[in-house]
Amino acid sequence: MQVLDGQTVFGGIAIGPAYLFTRKTQTITLERVENIHEEIARFEQARLQAQAQLGDLYERAQLRVGEENAEIFNIHAMMLDDADYCSSITHIIRTQSANAEYAVGVTADNFSKLFSGMDDAYMRERAADVRDVSERLVRILSGETGSDGLHTPSIIFADDLAPSETVQLDREKVLAFVTAKGSKNSHTAILARTMNIPAIIGVGAQALSLTNGQSVIVDGFSGKVYINPDAQTKAEMQIRLQSETEKKNLLKTLKGMENKTLDGRTIKLYANIGGTGDVAEALQNDAGGIGLLRSEFLYIGRKEAPDEQTQFNAYRTIAQSMAGRPVIIRTLDIGADKKADYLGLEPEENPALGYRAVRICLDRQDLFKTQLRAIYRASAFGSIAVMIPMIVSEDEVLRVKEIIEEVKAELDADRIDYAKNVAFGIMIETPAAALISDRLAKHVDFFSIGTNDLTQYILAADRQNAALEPYIDTHHPALLRLIQSVAENAHKNGIWVGICGELGADPDLTEFFLSIGIDELSVSPPMILPLRQKIRNMKIQDTIK
Ligand code: PEP
Ligand code: MG
Repeated sequence: MQVLDGQTVFGGIAIGPAYLFTRKTQTITLERVENIHEEIARFEQARLQAQAQLGDLYERAQLRVGEENAEIFNIHAMMLDDADYCSSITHIIRTQSANAEYAVGVTADNFSKLFSGMDDAYMRERAADVRDVSERLVRILSGETGSDGLHTPSIIFADDLAPSETVQLDREKVLAFVTAKGSKNSHTAILARTMNIPAIIGVGAQALSLTNGQSVIVDGFSGKVYINPDAQTKAEMQIRLQSETEKKNLLKTLKGMENKTLDGRTIKLYANIGGTGDVAEALQNDAGGIGLLRSEFLYIGRKEAPDEQTQFNAYRTIAQSMAGRPVIIRTLDIGADKKADYLGLEPEENPALGYRAVRICLDRQDLFKTQLRAIYRASAFGSIAVMIPMIVSEDEVLRVKEIIEEVKAELDADRIDYAKNVAFGIMIETPAAALISDRLAKHVDFFSIGTNDLTQYILAADRQNAALEPYIDTHHPALLRLIQSVAENAHKNGIWVGICGELGADPDLTEFFLSIGIDELSVSPPMILPLRQKIRNMKIQDTIK
């Protein structure tokens, strides 16, 4: 048995034969042509044919992976309209009497080198797109059909996969992807996540030394690939696969179903996540959106705060992967139990009642603005909302809004695109915020109730202290009454209200939450489908209050 290690892009277990994805290598040679005009016309015809293929691929991908992810094929089609790209090709044909294949090949090399050398990681990834679209042109020019030859369900091994190759593979025959190279932010990684296909990238050149049909197990959770697995590994993985399959079957029956009670009440079920690595699980469990991205996880375990570009890349990847579904990014909630040494925060006697979250952000505006810029920039790539933690006063909300206006003005001045309808919400997780929620509602688009902190503050019992567990009564009437009054205040003021604390996933309270009109529950991904199942079998008694 041989074990390969890589980076996981999407969890899941796959057991099956290997299929080595190889492209017919296009050897492009320079051939002199006699009639330059005919050669330019041949290129022009291939260009139009490639655009027609891409239009077709866009339609197919839209159905499979949603409009946002299909957009890559429109981008490819646009590249074929790019004046610089096209004139480089015709210039080479004209000045060197070169064949069109050669002119396309040289142009592809030049442009992809140009993109690879750029500072922006996003632009660097576009190098792969130029190569991909140029290879399509060369295939058309040389009359190749490019069929994938995949006949039985297999684990696909490849050097790297271009987005168009990923989408063109027959989904029913793909058990998993394993690539030698690849990046977590690439479109292919996003597509694998969206298509719910276990995927491991970056396992190295050994990925290409397999032969078709060799027995393989992919553990997309740990990033391990077992080649010719021994009997014990096989048996263990079979058991895990079976439990995965049972979960998937539950998913299949509930996927795409509404979260609707028998008497017609609906509620949104979103996912709580800590970063890009959790998006796959949210999608796998059919989350309607991300109700809480705990952005502080990006800041923890580093030597210095993540810069704007690093944050932008993460937020953009999440927004793109969610393909138009809402993504609520909670701004930095550092402090209390979440520490980052580089911030140089003083040790505190009572950290839970201390210097944390928005309090730090309002003092350290450089830190806050960097994050807001990254969030607003990413808003151009999906449906992003901003949410502020640990609010206690109207004044804090107004100050945050002022800072957001400054950030937007800076982006306008820099001519950087961002969405104009980014929703602005706050967490209701302090008793103060809950008690003045009628006033706070006037300044925001939504509330999300953070019951983890709200419970500790209402019951005066530190959530970190195990000895106080008997006091943490999550069904305490004081807490439930306060939640109900926050919901009423939200609705009186025409805004929606959700719950993103752990209590949202408590099945004993689902009926209560529905009866008081909670609009959204954001829970850990594996809780979504069990909750959906419960909701679909429930009738709301209006008397519960
Ligand atoms: C909460 O307090 O309920 C919450 C969702 O935030 P966190 O658990 O990250 O403090
Ligand atoms: Mg909290």
